[in-house]
Amino acid sequence: MTKKSKSSLAYRRIVAKFGTSLITGGTNQLDQSAMTGLVDQIARLHQQGSELLIVSSGAIAAGRQKLGLTRKIRGIPFRQVMASAGQSRLMNIYEQLFDKHGIRVAQALLTRHDLSDRAGYLNTRNTLLALLELGVVPIVNENDVVAVDEIQEASFGDNDNLSAMVANLIDADLLLLLGDIGGLYTADPHRRTDARLIPQVERIDREIERLA
Ligand code: GLU
Repeated sequence: MTKKSKSSLAYRRIVAKFGTSLITGGTNQLDQSAMTGLVDQIARLHQQGSELLIVSSGAIAAGRQKLGLTRKIRGIPFRQVMASAGQSRLMNIYEQLFDKHGIRVAQALLTRHDLSDRAGYLNTRNTLLALLELGVVPIVNENDVVAVDEIQEASFGDNDNLSAMVANLIDADLLLLLGDIGGLYTADPHRRTDARLIPQVERIDREIERLA
């Protein structure tokens, strides 16, 4: 495949967020074939000259599997334990899958707190941009070990939020949120059978904000 010049690309810098349900295929553990398919697609875009950054969930699911814990074990300390044990497994799989394409990856674990002060914001931005410049694919996740929901200002809450902030941080041209939900619905499709998909939002008004 030939490498296109960066200026001819529709989207030069892309942030792709992979949700847990996507990379576990809805199961209790990481689904390597689902991850392979995603990595292959990212590699294709990388080959075409785009700069890619991934925001990946899955550390908690990977940790649960690694430690042999069941879904019944909940609570913030366990979430942190599972994230800590699972993050390295998650990265290990990404590293192996990207290696097959000759693409190098890097890990960045962030908290809201890191981006809320100017120095932290600029350092993070500089690091991520330098990695992209080197052709590396940064893989970002929330640093669940320190960012717990109870400390409101420390936590992004979820990776949708985190990926939106990172997309702004690096001036991305496109943010892709990939999960098991088709898009924006009129209600929660997991709970309401009458929920309808809104294929395109033309204007953000109060009604749309309410749905979000
Ligand atoms: N950081 C969590 C994990 O890696 C996921 C949070 C989210 O998906 O919103 O498992």
